[in-house]
Amino acid sequence: MTTNRHGWHPETTLVHSGTTRSPYGETSEAMYLTQGFVYATAEAAEARFNGDDPGFVYSRYANPTVAMFENRIAALEGAEAARATASGMAAVNLALMACCKAGDHVVAAKALFGSCRYIVETLLPRFGVSSTLVDGTDLDAWRAAIRPETVACFLESPTNPTLEVIDIAAVAEMAHAVGAKLIVDNVFATPIWQSPLSLGADIVVYSATKHIDGQGRCLGGVVLGTEEWITDEVMPFMKHTGPAMSPFNAWVMLKGLETLALRVERQTRTASRLADVLAEHPAVARLIYPGRADHPQAEVVRRQMKAGSTMLALELKGGKEAAFRASNALRIVKMSNNLGDARSLITHPATTTHQSVAEEARLELGITDGLLRLSVGLEHEDDLAADLLTALDVAHNA
Ligand SMILES: *Cc1c(COP(=O)(O)O)cnc(C)c1O
Repeated sequence: MTTNRHGWHPETTLVHSGTTRSPYGETSEAMYLTQGFVYATAEAAEARFNGDDPGFVYSRYANPTVAMFENRIAALEGAEAARATASGMAAVNLALMACCKAGDHVVAAKALFGSCRYIVETLLPRFGVSSTLVDGTDLDAWRAAIRPETVACFLESPTNPTLEVIDIAAVAEMAHAVGAKLIVDNVFATPIWQSPLSLGADIVVYSATKHIDGQGRCLGGVVLGTEEWITDEVMPFMKHTGPAMSPFNAWVMLKGLETLALRVERQTRTASRLADVLAEHPAVARLIYPGRADHPQAEVVRRQMKAGSTMLALELKGGKEAAFRASNALRIVKMSNNLGDARSLITHPATTTHQSVAEEARLELGITDGLLRLSVGLEHEDDLAADLLTALDVAHNA
């Protein structure tokens, strides 16, 4: 992604794309806090409803502020169209629902965000859509699981929380061989470092709650794909089931997009430096960072990502006790299960985000009792390094 289809670089797209201005010519995007729209005549209303006039009808379908956000992120991603949703989970659910009907089959990588896994493993089967979970890094497992009735493959890369990296182009090729679509949850990579559509994916989903807002304020999500798929499959679902993003949240997300590249670049630079510093600490058994040469899928990272990530994971010697001691000793880094925020946030997945996952399944995913996930924020790298190293000393010297 050096330029989008208008020939702009991402930084320019993030500031300007999708903007529409009211007759007042406001500089910053207007927030259209309105449920509906009024029509000058009965004929005008009829034309809106029969599609002769493409204007707005109702904010459950579309809204001018939400449309600016959708058009801006579509331009960034190089997607034909996008629809914004109330949360990231609404986006994932929408993408899957828009692909499946009873009798269909879905294959997904088992290292999924918890609620995504619930949809695939529990919810879809209740409606007659069967699913198979595979080790996403094992291409033979995908090959064995994909069947003629498979309609969608679903993965996130890097994964939460162990930052495994899945070969998107290879899975896309296998999915397409049976006419299935590949859906990629691109939250951890961000649209700055990874463009799944250019790697062969058909649909991209985001929790905009994370890096797109980037300052921990609003929930939001977005689904991106072809104009045809969005119009024919996504829009009817949006219209009739109502997962729309609020115009207020869309306005916050638009402001977030303006600074997305700056923030993600800085957070990634800091994460990469912290990864190298923390990896040397005697309390650390294993440090996982997609930008390092010792990452298990370093070769795939080089092929499909422009840089590591704003996230890193570290496994401490001494299990849960050491992980808790280190977490409790932090002064700057806050404990929270969110990510992509301006504040650095640390979480202990085994006792929080993945507490409800059975121990055996958890260990299979590499979520050991000593594992901590760190989302690197915008603080100065020296302050973060000092805070983290002090906390690791506390864990180590107990
Ligand atoms: C947070 C997250 C989601 C869900 O997003 P919400 O906005 O919290 O609903 C889905 N996938 C991934 C990878 C996430 O990190």
